[in-house]
Amino acid sequence: MKVVNEFKKSFNRKLISIFLFILIIATSLIGISSYQIAKKALTEKGKVVLKNSVIQALALIHSEYEKVEAGLTNKADAQETIKTFLLGPVTADGTRESHGNIDLSEHGYFIIYDKKGFEVLHPTLEGQNVWDVTDFNDAEHYIVREKIALALNGGGYTYYAWRFPHSDKIGRKISYVGYNPDWEWIVVSTAYELDFVNEATEILYTIVIVTVILLILTGYVGTTYIKSATKPVLDIARGMKKVTKGRYQSIHPGNHNDETRILIDGYNTMIACLEKAEHKITLKNNRLTYLAYNDDVTQLPNRNGFKEYVEQRLNNGCKFGYLAQLDIIGLKLINLTLGYEQGDKVLGLLGEYLRQCKEDNSYPARTASNEFSIWIEDVEQQRIHTLLKKIRDKSQQYVIENGYNQMLDIYLALTVYDGQKKSFETLYEETTTAMRTAKEKKRLSITLFEESMKKRVENELAMRRHLGKAISEKEIIPYYQEKVDFAIGKVVGVEALARWISGEMGFVPPNVFIPYINQLNLITEFTDYMVDKVLGDYQALVMKYDSNLTISINISPLCFMEKDFTGKIERAINKYNIPPHKLILEITEDIFIADYKAINKIITRLRELFVKVSIDDFGTGYSSLNYLINIQPDEIKIDKSFVDQILHDDKAFYMFHTLCNIAENFGYSIVAEGVENKKQLEKISTTPLRIIQGYLFSKPEPLRPHGESPRPCS
Ligand code: C2E
Ligand code: CA
Ligand code: CA
Repeated sequence: MKVVNEFKKSFNRKLISIFLFILIIATSLIGISSYQIAKKALTEKGKVVLKNSVIQALALIHSEYEKVEAGLTNKADAQETIKTFLLGPVTADGTRESHGNIDLSEHGYFIIYDKKGFEVLHPTLEGQNVWDVTDFNDAEHYIVREKIALALNGGGYTYYAWRFPHSDKIGRKISYVGYNPDWEWIVVSTAYELDFVNEATEILYTIVIVTVILLILTGYVGTTYIKSATKPVLDIARGMKKVTKGRYQSIHPGNHNDETRILIDGYNTMIACLEKAEHKITLKNNRLTYLAYNDDVTQLPNRNGFKEYVEQRLNNGCKFGYLAQLDIIGLKLINLTLGYEQGDKVLGLLGEYLRQCKEDNSYPARTASNEFSIWIEDVEQQRIHTLLKKIRDKSQQYVIENGYNQMLDIYLALTVYDGQKKSFETLYEETTTAMRTAKEKKRLSITLFEESMKKRVENELAMRRHLGKAISEKEIIPYYQEKVDFAIGKVVGVEALARWISGEMGFVPPNVFIPYINQLNLITEFTDYMVDKVLGDYQALVMKYDSNLTISINISPLCFMEKDFTGKIERAINKYNIPPHKLILEITEDIFIADYKAINKIITRLRELFVKVSIDDFGTGYSSLNYLINIQPDEIKIDKSFVDQILHDDKAFYMFHTLCNIAENFGYSIVAEGVENKKQLEKISTTPLRIIQGYLFSKPEPLRPHGESPRPCS
């Protein structure tokens, strides 16, 4: 407010000062010039009066002279008549009044000299010789002599300084001089300039008074006007100050109908815009604040929100609790095959279920893309497993009921908080460690954190670190495992299986490193590398076995679905000149969970290239005979877990047998994986299945030439 006031004062003061300054200058100029003009005009007028009075006096003298000549009067009387007429009669003290019958203004009077400088007529000096009298201000200026000379030359004006009559005051005088030849008189009418300009001075006084009145009036009116003119500016200044405090106030336009109105309207529009903008910003900020602590897809708290809650519980003296993590398996594949929208829908459904079953003692959150966390208190230790299992099963069921069957599984990891001082981050890290173990072991029961798991996690982190260069430095190489037609005792094909022999980590099996390759988004690079490497080995393999040998490569579902996958395969075949029908691409059946059409399109394209497709791990995942009808693969590989059961489980063997019959009927090639012993082989030989891959015949081995024919290992 202080600033506004100061601003107001100085602004108004400036305006008023400028206004008054102009007014004073203007009136002074008018006053001074009018005074000068008036003074000049009056002086001219006075001079004319003086000249006329001399002419009048000369006429009178001449007329009196003629009277004397005519004998009508004597000379002395005639001259006294003239003197009395011009200057009044002689008073008691021998002087004359200055005023005669001709008005020469207040201090004006007549003088008559003779040619020698004697005063014939003068108010006070009559009879005296003034030949040598000089100007009061100039001792060189012989004023009488000048007047006599001027008169004898035809007359004119003279100027000099002289005393006022009957006073010591000096004033500037103007005189007109004429000459009367009759009595040889020099006739002078003389007056003071001051008398002439008296009126001008009066004009000046009037101007000064008018100016003062004008100044007061205009000052008052001007100040009032300026104040009203500057009010909107001050209102705007105040308004702006309020804006800085977050208050938006428009200004009433009042009666203004000029530029001020434009200014006020502009200001009001600006205020309205600012208010709108702030409203928008507030909404956005609220949204950002919400998103900083919540997940938009599930409407559950996010990691930040979860952390805040758990930390608050820990700080508030919580004595016992659990931090559980649910990791969704298969979400990536749903995103890939059905689209992210469907993936989000699944997450939304899970979130909805977790919100629904939330109780006072549990706090669910979505803490990463495919991970939910729950903080649970007040549950007895023996009950936590049942509770979590229930949550997992029910949420899975909920998702299935809502239209997503066969797609999901959930890993569950847990850490216990026993009141010992531990931060949220430590608890979270422990659960994540337990989760890693669960994933590594593909364990679907609940995995409880143990200190020993940390070591494994450290290994895992080291592995992640080294995996990047494993491909570029060719630390990963293909091993080959034979596929044998046991009926004729011949190797009909080989399957390439990746092996990582790391400089730092030693031997790392594919089941361990391939999930990390997926996580690190290296799967495309890895698959391209393997395809190139294996096809590059083809000629050597043919040399080792025979020209009918088929070569199988495992293709991860994510790569199979890639846009240019078939193009890549075609280019690789051409590069190494491989007969395409000798190449078999093994894909796991997870890929068939959804979009048959898209997958069929890829398979059709591969078939056009004469490349074969095999369904790997058949019988483990979401097996359905539907695939066999819809997809029509070239080969089915029955998984080891299935083969393991046929000796002890009649039902399993019956299914195994049926599957072989179906394959035979449909014309698919069928392979049994993981055959380890002769008993299994004997049982299998009672079915139409003829091709076996397993330790019974050979283990995966690096490529080195040897020409022996296969026989069962002892
Ligand atoms: P898979 O495709 O099912 O490969 C068969 C696995 O069973 C191989 O394990 C093989 O060594 C093993 N096996 C074969 N016969 C027997 C047996 O008689 N007894 C036992 N106990 N095991 C047997 P491996 O080489 O450890 O590979 C594991 C998995 O890693 C493979 O399973 C495959 O899914 C994946 N994998 C390996 N190499 C690659 C690759 O280059 N690309 C992709 N995408 N995945 C690969
Ligand atoms: Ca395989
Ligand atoms: Ca398998």
